[in-house]
Amino acid sequence: MTRTPEPIGSTVLGYPRIGPNREIKRALEDHWAGRLDAAGLATAAAAERARTWRRLAGLGLDSVPSSTFSLYDHVLDAAVLVGAVPPRYAELGLDPVGTYFAMARGTAGVAPLELTKWFDTNYHYLVPEVGPETEFRLAGATPVDEFREALDLGVRTRPVLLGPLSLLLLAKPAGDAPPGFHPLDRLDDLLEVYASLLERLAAAGAGWVQLDEPCFTADRTPAELDALRRAYQRLGEVSDRPGILVASYFGRLGDALPVLASTPVEAIGVDLVAGSPDEVLAATGLAGKTVVAGVVDGRNVWRSDLDSALAVLAAVRGVAGEVAVSTSCSLLHVPYDLDAETGLDPRLRSWLAFADQKVAEVVALASALRDGQAGVAGAFDDAAAARVSRRSAPGVVDDGVRSRLATLQPDDARRGPYDQRAAAQRERLGLPPLPTTTIGSFPQTAQLRGTRAEFRSGRLGEDEYTARMRAEIERTVRLQEKLGLDVLVHGEPERNDMVQYFAENLAGFATTVNGWVQSYGSRCVRPPILYGDVSRPAPITVDWARYAQSLTDRPVKGMLTGPVTILAWSFVRDDQPLADTARQVALAIRDETVDLEAAGIGIIQVDEPALRELLPLRSADQAAYLDWSVGAFRLATAGVSDATQIHTHLCYSEFGEVVAAIDGLDADVTSIEAARSRMEIVPDVAGSGFARGIGPGVYDIHSPRVPDADEIEALLRRALAEIPAERLWVNPDCGLKTRGYAEVEPALAALVEAAHRLR
Ligand code: GLN
Ligand code: ZN
Repeated sequence: MTRTPEPIGSTVLGYPRIGPNREIKRALEDHWAGRLDAAGLATAAAAERARTWRRLAGLGLDSVPSSTFSLYDHVLDAAVLVGAVPPRYAELGLDPVGTYFAMARGTAGVAPLELTKWFDTNYHYLVPEVGPETEFRLAGATPVDEFREALDLGVRTRPVLLGPLSLLLLAKPAGDAPPGFHPLDRLDDLLEVYASLLERLAAAGAGWVQLDEPCFTADRTPAELDALRRAYQRLGEVSDRPGILVASYFGRLGDALPVLASTPVEAIGVDLVAGSPDEVLAATGLAGKTVVAGVVDGRNVWRSDLDSALAVLAAVRGVAGEVAVSTSCSLLHVPYDLDAETGLDPRLRSWLAFADQKVAEVVALASALRDGQAGVAGAFDDAAAARVSRRSAPGVVDDGVRSRLATLQPDDARRGPYDQRAAAQRERLGLPPLPTTTIGSFPQTAQLRGTRAEFRSGRLGEDEYTARMRAEIERTVRLQEKLGLDVLVHGEPERNDMVQYFAENLAGFATTVNGWVQSYGSRCVRPPILYGDVSRPAPITVDWARYAQSLTDRPVKGMLTGPVTILAWSFVRDDQPLADTARQVALAIRDETVDLEAAGIGIIQVDEPALRELLPLRSADQAAYLDWSVGAFRLATAGVSDATQIHTHLCYSEFGEVVAAIDGLDADVTSIEAARSRMEIVPDVAGSGFARGIGPGVYDIHSPRVPDADEIEALLRRALAEIPAERLWVNPDCGLKTRGYAEVEPALAALVEAAHRLR
């Protein structure tokens, strides 16, 4: 390094990028639909970047990040920057933007890169592919260009990039890589690209660069830790470079902290919300470093406890050369600005902080740390007052819910033995072997969405709304009868989203109108806010289910979302353990199962697609999580009699990874994704000794392709080789809401025919 950079002072690790009013979502979708050319898209992107830099500088941040913008995904950006474009996309001969979107979304002939969850969040990244032949090179200069773009606006930013280790650890081997190859084998080549990028950033005038290494808050092997040491030793030796901040987030660094401390990097970012201040305070070797202390929660929407955050900062100052104040992770995971959220109850609102409010908290903390609290006493007072108000506000504590939880007995989470249940259910339901069913939702047409919107806005009265929804349910039931399905569903036409719908109908939740968070690409979600004790004031789904069942002699399956998934896709209160909140949600869902049963519904599915998503990154933390999450599911489902069949649905195919948990759920039937991997999970199921009903998906609903009966029959035969016929169910991979009827009808007809042939 040529000169010591300015202190970081106050910063955030990243910022939302979809636009405060989802401008980038619209620009992207217009571009993909051919309504906006590449220049128009670039203009929209530049406007959002400029707005962000000005906003962050205006809020008073000392060090404003750049390159936190992305047209789709920051992992894809990093892969493209270093030349990791698989030949099948390069060969399309498209311009750079076209190639980029081909990797993200696919083209008519080429499938996109695999999309998967970003650590334990609900954001999704594109999985880079790296092989022995990948030609790493600095294939662009986006971080340098954007640094200059900001400098022209008068903001000297700190470019942010995914670090080389995490890029390789998140990548998968290219299709043609030999067995035993791991992307990390290519570290040395990749480091040369990062080294030259550092030189270019320094030449452009960057004082700092942030390299994100979130992979090191998960368990890593000694070889991976050694690679971390080697990488930052090498990058540290680049003679003319910016100061390097290696940022970690989503947990504690563990063994990676001393490793990083031993390298020449100038700054280390630590997550002091999900991670542990103790670990940092006990570390040696930080005396010459800046610790970028992530004390403001970047993933949740609660206002910080500024007093405790300041105490942590002061303690860290004792072991570090310098302390900078930051968020625990990028603010990508929270909405932009609470000021845009006008409909919230004012009291709840006073407890919250979205991205811009969190920036203000960081700035206030940095000021207090530097100059003492007096100058920012107002911010500290407001934060303390919000804490007091939250503790005693009506709705936050509900004594009825508390005492109900306190009197629960272990038996409340236990059903009868499976054999006994299976016998009672056989008798009650009389289903054929290889019963056919679906996962719950049927296609959501524009007309349906329109009806819901009209009802919400008051333009449509309750009676007319109910009549239209009932007509839709009747259509769906008749279609399923015509197709010959054995277990029917009502089709979920009344639901906007499987979590939001329940949140809107449970006490303890608030929903937002503009609280959008990017999920992937242009897709955004609006997580509800779980702020208080949860209960179910009145039945939610019972009338719809009862109506559907009244139309047919075949069993109609009731459809609920499970407690773990409701938590995973909400902003959850941080003032009590997640396990306690999960049990409250579980009791609310349990009330619904009991009422469904009383209404004559003999099969109830409780979806838990997020069970695996919340699995802690460190194996040492996993047992405790599985204990409470599985316990919550059982509490939610153990209130019904033996003769009522409980199903669950999980949205992934990694059965082996969480097999003990799936077994622990004790559901009578479990459906899981399997079609895309051509039943790869079947050996895992058979090998695990899993002994209840299982429905490995035979129709990949993520693709517009319609499978035929031969293909489904072949999949079922593979399954039957290892799973006995009396336990095998026939169903699609997931709900059908994103597909059209033109695909769904023939696909389900093929599914039914395949099952009939095998019977
Ligand atoms: N029952 C839901 C549906 O079919 C399940 C969705 C999911 O698993 N993500 O839409
Ligand atoms: Zn699913």
